[in-house]
Amino acid sequence: MITGIQIKNQVENVVSAKVAVWQRELAAAVRDPLALMQVLGLEEYPPSPALPPQGVKGAEEAARQFRLLVPHSYIARMRKGDWNDPLLRQVLPLDAELQVVEGFHADPVGDNQALVADGVLHKYHGRVLLVTTGACAVHCRYCFRRHFPYSESNPVKGEWEGALAYIRANPDVCEVILSGGDPLTLADERLALFFKQLNGISHVKRVRFHTRLPVVLPSRIDAGFLQMLATIRQQVVMVIHANHAQELAADDVRQALAALHSAGVTLLNQAVLLRGVNNSVQAQVNLSEALFAERVLPYYLHVLDRVAGAAHFEVAETEAVHMVDGMRQQLPGFLVPKLVREVAGEKAKTPIF
Ligand SMILES: *Cc1c(COP(=O)(O)O)cnc(C)c1O
Ligand code: SF4
Repeated sequence: MITGIQIKNQVENVVSAKVAVWQRELAAAVRDPLALMQVLGLEEYPPSPALPPQGVKGAEEAARQFRLLVPHSYIARMRKGDWNDPLLRQVLPLDAELQVVEGFHADPVGDNQALVADGVLHKYHGRVLLVTTGACAVHCRYCFRRHFPYSESNPVKGEWEGALAYIRANPDVCEVILSGGDPLTLADERLALFFKQLNGISHVKRVRFHTRLPVVLPSRIDAGFLQMLATIRQQVVMVIHANHAQELAADDVRQALAALHSAGVTLLNQAVLLRGVNNSVQAQVNLSEALFAERVLPYYLHVLDRVAGAAHFEVAETEAVHMVDGMRQQLPGFLVPKLVREVAGEKAKTPIF
């Protein structure tokens, strides 16, 4: 006799078989600051450095404006009991974010003006950038997208028709960049649907992913994803995003990057220069070395986009230049990233040094 409970179990098994490990890990990511503190053995929310101590209340309000989100794999790389851990600093809401600072705006990059179709940004020659989704696997406190309400961020809709039509109609587009949000939060089936159609557009030579998932949720690089990658006709570039060597110091991250390298993907990194996270020559040298050990080349080091709520992360441009100069004295040229700023309306990232 089959009981109701057995049937329920069978149904659940069928459903869970379709949910990949990475999707379960994303669903289980920490969203509550107090829960994060508990895992890390931290007590009492820190008063913000150099600001009137609004303490917990300010931090709670900051978390309401842009909620905390961080997967356990990333948390496992944080030092226990250390408020100044460079990974924790990137994800923990602080009251400092509530400070209104002149020159810091909601849309510092001017992306809204570059939208040419649903979710398609065409700012630079030969390259289009697709805002494939508003979702990420981590919420970085310094992100310039922190003020884009996800429902209104114009991601590519439905079955990609609008984006594909635009690419088809513009033969000078030779590179398609999947960005977001984070494109790797999309299921393999949805990505496969896009690439199947992109394969038929002969003027597209390269596809590029801008993604933080190999670093923050490395289980995303699973067999299903690698199979999907193998169906792509174009050369594949993946620009990952790590800001500190400690982000790469885990077996799951190393395995993910090794698998991508074996799959023939060109791996690059972009980082953001962040006060209290990576604003020393030594931290940057260590990051470059750690990246190359996993066969990733440093590409860009961005100075902070001046987004409201992130002023406390800013590093003065003179200090940034000084740091990159220090890197050049210690590293081969190919391990020194380009220091750049995003300037609204410019035809490329603006080199600083
Ligand atoms: C950064 C960016 C690109 C890519 O620029 P590269 O210099 O090729 O890395 C493309 N489109 C938009 C809208 C961008 O912001
Ligand atoms: S993963 Fe990228 S897009 Fe998402 S919050 Fe972090 S910096 Fe922003």
